[in-house]
Amino acid sequence: MNECRECCSFCDRILHPSGCIQSGCRFLYSYDDDSTGRRFMGCLNKIFKVEIDVGVFEEAQRTRHGYGGVKLTGTPIPQCRVSVESAYGGDGEAFRCVNPGFFDVPDEHADPAFDIRDRL
Ligand code: SF4
Ligand code: SF4
Repeated sequence: MNECRECCSFCDRILHPSGCIQSGCRFLYSYDDDSTGRRFMGCLNKIFKVEIDVGVFEEAQRTRHGYGGVKLTGTPIPQCRVSVESAYGGDGEAFRCVNPGFFDVPDEHADPAFDIRDRL
């Protein structure tokens, strides 16, 4: 559902957790893990399923490219920041998109947070 392998570009929809923080989303949770001394954050809606190490995230955010995205695992709501990432780039027929609808938000409602211009 959130990946397309119909040409050699190999595209995935991804979720940018930076958007969760910037929007102040109430579905973003965090907790301190006593066993590791680390803080983790995740999405109560399971729009992304992984739990992210907050220290690693913050360190990456200070770099030029930032933390980036994680695999999208649910149907995003308006405050979710999502984009499409292509694993490979190339010219010619093998890389010609035959599934342009994949770049639409995976929801029946228009979603201004999903913008093809975010494509990495
Ligand atoms: S609902 Fe969307 S914006 Fe909110 S925490 Fe989950 S992924 Fe982030
Ligand atoms: S470029 Fe289009 S057809 Fe190719 S993998 Fe991406 S969405 Fe699918």
